[in-house]
Amino acid sequence: MTDQQNSICLFCKIVAKEIPSSVVYEDNYVIAILDISPINFGHTLLLPKIHSENLFDLDTKIFEKMAKVAKNISMAIKKAVKADGINIGMNNGGAAGQVVSHTHIHVIPRFYGDGYELWKSSKNYGPGEAEIFAGKISKELML
Ligand code: ZN
Repeated sequence: MTDQQNSICLFCKIVAKEIPSSVVYEDNYVIAILDISPINFGHTLLLPKIHSENLFDLDTKIFEKMAKVAKNISMAIKKAVKADGINIGMNNGGAAGQVVSHTHIHVIPRFYGDGYELWKSSKNYGPGEAEIFAGKISKELML
């Protein structure tokens, strides 16, 4: 365990194999495990091995590795469980529904008629508002 890993973090304990999990994939940077209470069977969590709380303190290079693995895992899950579709989800911060404070990406197989729905869009921009929001976001980009 490195200094950067949090000894009380549930996912750090899984990374360190102190807590058993069903490993789907593992390399030097990431580990993918089955979610123990899946949305649908095959629901996989992809974690960086070095602790970060969420996207806001996650190293971009690690996120790039996670994105590549997430795509590969999505294709594998789709084949393995004959899913009709895949949701990739990442909850960053309590307001966004993050429960465990260790960065993770959900890869969730979906099936027609599985009963889950995504949130519905319920807001409309007023005249000129969309441009204002687009401008505010563009100003904050660090690309
Ligand atoms: Zn952790």
